[in-house]
Formats: sequence, C-alpha cells, structure tokens
Amino acid sequence: MTDALWKITGGRVYDPLNGVDGQVRDIWIQGGTIVAPPEDPHVRPASTLNAAGLVVMPGGIDMHCHIAGPKVNAARKLRPEERRGGRNVVSRTARTHSGTLGSVPSTFATGYKYIGLGYTTAFDAAVPPLMARHAHEEFDDMPCIDKGFYVLAGNNHFVMRAIQERQPDQLKGFLAWLLGAAKAYAIKLVNPGGVEVWKHHAGGNVHSLDEPVDYFGVTARQIVHDVAAAADALKLPHSVHVHCNNLGLPGNWTTTLQTMKALEGHRGHITHIQFHSYGGGEGDETTFNSKVAPLADYVNEHPNVSIDVGQVLFGETTSMTGDGPLGYYLHNVYGTKWFSADVEMESGCGIAPIKYRNKSLIHAWQWAIGLEWYLLVQDPWRVVMSTDHPNGASFLAYPQIIRLLMDRTYRQDALKDVHATVGKNSALADLDREYSLYEIAIITRAGPAKLLGLKHKGHLGPGADADVTIYTPHEDKELMFQLPRYVIKSGQMLVEDGDLRQTWEGKTLYVAPSYDADMERLIGDWFEQYYSVRFRNYPVADDYLHAAEQVACG
Ligand SMILES: [Zn+2]
Repeated sequence: MTDALWKITGGRVYDPLNGVDGQVRDIWIQGGTIVAPPEDPHVRPASTLNAAGLVVMPGGIDMHCHIAGPKVNAARKLRPEERRGGRNVVSRTARTHSGTLGSVPSTFATGYKYIGLGYTTAFDAAVPPLMARHAHEEFDDMPCIDKGFYVLAGNNHFVMRAIQERQPDQLKGFLAWLLGAAKAYAIKLVNPGGVEVWKHHAGGNVHSLDEPVDYFGVTARQIVHDVAAAADALKLPHSVHVHCNNLGLPGNWTTTLQTMKALEGHRGHITHIQFHSYGGGEGDETTFNSKVAPLADYVNEHPNVSIDVGQVLFGETTSMTGDGPLGYYLHNVYGTKWFSADVEMESGCGIAPIKYRNKSLIHAWQWAIGLEWYLLVQDPWRVVMSTDHPNGASFLAYPQIIRLLMDRTYRQDALKDVHATVGKNSALADLDREYSLYEIAIITRAGPAKLLGLKHKGHLGPGADADVTIYTPHEDKELMFQLPRYVIKSGQMLVEDGDLRQTWEGKTLYVAPSYDADMERLIGDWFEQYYSVRFRNYPVADDYLHAAEQVACG
C-alpha cells in the first residue's frame, strides 16, 4: 500500500471536526495523507479495505501521559517487583523488539500498546528542558506513534526572575527560546513555585495562589497569569498546560478555582483536574468529598478553560510527577518506597507506587470524581479523556472508561461496589447521561487535536494525516475499544485484529517560536553564571531528532 491511492469503503464514520456522525463515507488515502475522492470517476484505487458494518474514527490522541524522559525511566527502575518471575515481559518476535509492561512500560512496548489500542499520537506532559535529549532518545525508540512533550517551566529560575522583575518581553522571549531549544510542543506548569520551595526543605511547598516563593517573591497566581499571557502572545498552538498547586490535598478545589480565575481570560488547560477537585479538611478523612459541581459550573461558563480528567481506576500503579513534594506526601500517607530528584535551575520530580482500592473512601471518591467531570462538563470539546498515565491508571484502561461513560447501567452497578459513603453521596447516582460514539470521538481524538492546535490530526478530511482506527461494533463498549479491527498509521496498515503487521517510525512534533536576537545574549550570560552546562551545549540540535515535524505558531 506504499504511496498508491487506496480507500476504506462502506464504514460508519465518526469525524466530529467535519460534522460526520455515523454516516457511511469512503475515505481516500495517498502518501500518508487523507485526500479528496478523485473527481474523475474512472480513477480506481490500487486497493480497497471493506469496512462495511464497522466503525471508522481518526486515530486516538493522548494529550497527557508520562511515557518518556528521566522521571519515567527512574520509575521503571523503582518497580522491579512488577517484573519479578518473568511477569509483564514481552518477547521479541520477527517484527517487534522485546520489552516490559507493568505500570511503566518500556519505550518499545509503549509504542506497540498505544497502536494496538488505536492511539496514533501521544504527548508526554512533563520533561525538564535540561533533560530534553533523554526524552527525544526514548521517543526514537518508541515505534508506531507520533509524539511530543511539554516542557516544565513553572519553577524555572529565569521564568520566576523575569516575572519578579516585571519583564514580560523577557519572559516571552525566554519561553520561545526554551521551546525551540528543547524541541518541545507546549509549556507546562507543575505546582508553580511549590517545587522550588520544596527544594529548600523537606515538606516545603506553597499552599495557595498568593504565597510568595522564597528568594523570588513571586506567587503561583503571577506565574500562571504571566505564562498564560506569554503563550497567547506567542500564538502557541496549545495554551499553557497547568498542573495546579495542592494536588491530592483535601480542600484543594478552591486553589483550582483560583487558578482558573488567575488566567484572566487567557487560554489555559487544567490537567488531571480530578486530582484537584476535593472538598473536606486536612486531618479528617471522613470530610473528604467532591467539589466537581462548582468547578464544572466555572468551566461551563468560561470557554477559555479546557480540562483533561486524570481518571482513577482501581488497581496498582505508579505515581510519577514533576511535583517533587507530592512523592514525599504519598510516601508519608502510604509508607511506600519513593524517589525524589532535583533538576538544577528548572524543576524536580517525585515517584511512588500506589494502589487504588474500591473500598477506600478516598480512592472511591477519586474514581467517582473523575466520572463526575466527564458527565458534568457540557461541552465535550473542552474535556479530554486521560488517566494521567500511569498516575490514575494505565492508558490501557481507556476502554473501561468509555464503557463507564456509554453505559449507565454498568456505571450504576460499579457505583454499588465502591465505598458506601461515595455510593450514597456522589452525584453519579443521579447522572443519567450516556456518551454517544460521536462524543467519544470528540473526547479521545477530535477535541485533543483542536486543543493542541494540530490542524492535520483528529479528523478524516482531506489534508489530515491518514491515522485511522476501525472498530467492530459491540454492545460491550469496553470490548469494542480494547481490540480495534484495523489501525492505520500514516496510511500504512499496522494492526489487524490485535496483530502488529509491521512497525513504523512516527515523528516528533515540536514548536520553535521566533524571538528577538538579543535574547540569546541575555540568556547566555545568565546561563554561564548559574548552570553546570555550557549555553552552547544546551539546545537540542535539529539533526538530533530522527523524524520530526515543526508545527507552526499563529
Ligand atoms: Zn501528568
């Protein structure tokens, strides 16, 4: 099927960006791209895939996961017990590399598992710019999917200093330079200011939007606002991507609401919002509860805000985050092993194993709160499916979430199985909404493509990347989405009935906004004073990436 013209015929197509809701359409493909049907009726396709009776969607897009870079690799090393006794190991075949699974799969296995699930693009949400090469090297070893990452900037010394000195042009120029230097796709804030304070003393953190960060005097509110404004001024394809302060803490919903307000109308994506929607007071577990309703009201009324959920599913996984103090917090709560690291001038990370139990009051609330988010946001274009892989669960749990959203009987039965207080008090008991296939196509591909500003992904119109997933319809939506009938990447048939027919080298997506020439002198002087790395050695060179695509700003 190389570069020849071919078509997928007779399938029921769900392509929300082009308003196609289950109508039968033919999809024409050539050279890795979807093309318009030939005007000359005598033109014949070189081959035809008969999709009659099947469901056709664009390839899935995971806009928030943790799959590459130093933190992910440290997590693999922290969890050898997941692979003890030959468990979670995949053997080499004629077509595939060997690998390991578990909560943090190896690079090769990550690519095979995503494509097997019908996902063709994924973004790692937290890479320190100093470690960008590590992430790019792992991406080179991640077959079948396109990928990219967000670069951590919420505790970066240059960023905080520019904000403190009220130099918006320096901030904007630095962020533009940083994105291009790291070959990153978007700007990520993780616990803005809090990771810096954590570095000064164990247990250190910022606890509100207005608590100043030691030595810099800036607040999380200023960081969120000024970086969101810079992302808009640079016309980045994706808004600032925000992991709010106080993740996981009872009563943190007010911090989340304040963070959304701090955007002051600028675009902002609030990530894994489930972990930031809690009522109740610290020290008394019984008061823990859901504050999705007031937060969802705010999201519904403010089109500048989008979210992904960060759904929790019951079972064992690994928590990993650029939020250094969080790993310490989880270690204290659960008594597990943990790992913490500092990245000079830039960020940090925390890692800890975690097991979500359906009879735990807190875990049951986390599960229910995630589902409440999907069901209470009215506009599906601004809510994206995520588990914050692997923090809430593996990305392999997406089909289970789809069933919970599409089948209210299944959802009500599952609610009966969790901690009784949650079964009684969660809004879920009264939420009858069921997602349609069209809405599922929005929250798993069309919506994330739109929020990421990826004009050639998430749809099946002419000019789109020919990333197509074809499912056999089934009453049980978990089964339907677990095992696609066909997965096509860049026009190539990669998966048939769960069998990987060939591998494919996906590309890395990045942005490189322009900036004033004097910025490099300014950043260079600062660099030579404080970093352990020479300025000229810091940026990732163009030829460091094997297959890359620069996405335009504006
Ligand atoms: Zn995350």
